[in-house]
Amino acid sequence: LSQLFRPLDLLGMVYRTIRQGLIDMEAMYTLIDTPTEVADAPGARALAVAGGAVRFDQVRFGYDPEREILHGVSFAVPAGGTLAIVGPSGAGKSTIARILFRFYDIASGAVMIDGQDIAGVTQQSLRAAIGIVPQDMVLFNDTIGYNIAYGREGATQAQIEAAARAAQIHDFILGLPQGYDTRVGERGLKLSGGEKQRVAIARTLLKDPPVLVLDEATSALDSRTETEIQTVLRDISRKRTTLVVAHRLSTIVDADEIIVLDQGRIVERGRHADLVRADGLYATMWARQAAERDAPPADVRVEDMF
Ligand code: ATP
Repeated sequence: LSQLFRPLDLLGMVYRTIRQGLIDMEAMYTLIDTPTEVADAPGARALAVAGGAVRFDQVRFGYDPEREILHGVSFAVPAGGTLAIVGPSGAGKSTIARILFRFYDIASGAVMIDGQDIAGVTQQSLRAAIGIVPQDMVLFNDTIGYNIAYGREGATQAQIEAAARAAQIHDFILGLPQGYDTRVGERGLKLSGGEKQRVAIARTLLKDPPVLVLDEATSALDSRTETEIQTVLRDISRKRTTLVVAHRLSTIVDADEIIVLDQGRIVERGRHADLVRADGLYATMWARQAAERDAPPADVRVEDMF
């Protein structure tokens, strides 16, 4: 019977999510994984965002109680700072992002934003404070304008276009048959990986969150597109606290801190230059990626180097 009700539960949650007006495409993208037991604590208050400082304190977590995935992960990103997370496939990088968004409750430890435990604030206020640019965004079967406008309820056409311009997709949209009214998604125009990422960036710019999670695409975009997108991402992360799940080390040389995650543990941490000097795992990855960059095909992921 529970198998019958679970989909209904899920539907109910989708409905509530939309009704609450959560700016929550991010939630949709991993919704199927979302356990229904995450609930607002009794008397939960709205998150009071100051600068968006993020802190993980000895976080232990497993999707399944029998299999712990994060074994006591700690880091602190000051307001406006950038943390890069690298490591092999399955290390737990995306799990960190999901926990920050509170798709799951942790087993022990604490996750704080501006000194407030995220388990004690309303989910709506938490999710309003965080923008995610996922590696592969699912578009709504609607117009491209709607897909961007979803970032902020009541956005005006001028605001939508300003966001699109900043994400460098405005000119592309003007060249489409019906401009901003062109339908996209499964039943409309199919966008390339790079175009979808720009839509995600435009949407996030409209949302204007103090905390940003960038889940870098694993599949390589062509190098010109990639460079352009990196420039835009660097711009939008400048004023915001940013966690970037990185696959290409060249994109994170300026990060304030890099953590190398392996099987749910931080095995190295520091700035790029320190890690290269330390001559450990990161240094090996960096040397190999530098060599790959000089020799095509350049499409090698950090994960494949462990
Ligand atoms: P990648 O670089 O391949 O995206 P990652 O470092 O982001 O990997 P995670 O997606 O965080 O890795 O996964 C960490 C571990 O958690 C993996 O062993 C994975 O199998 C497991 N895992 C991820 N999602 C779930 C889930 N919904 N249920 C159970 N286990 C999961």
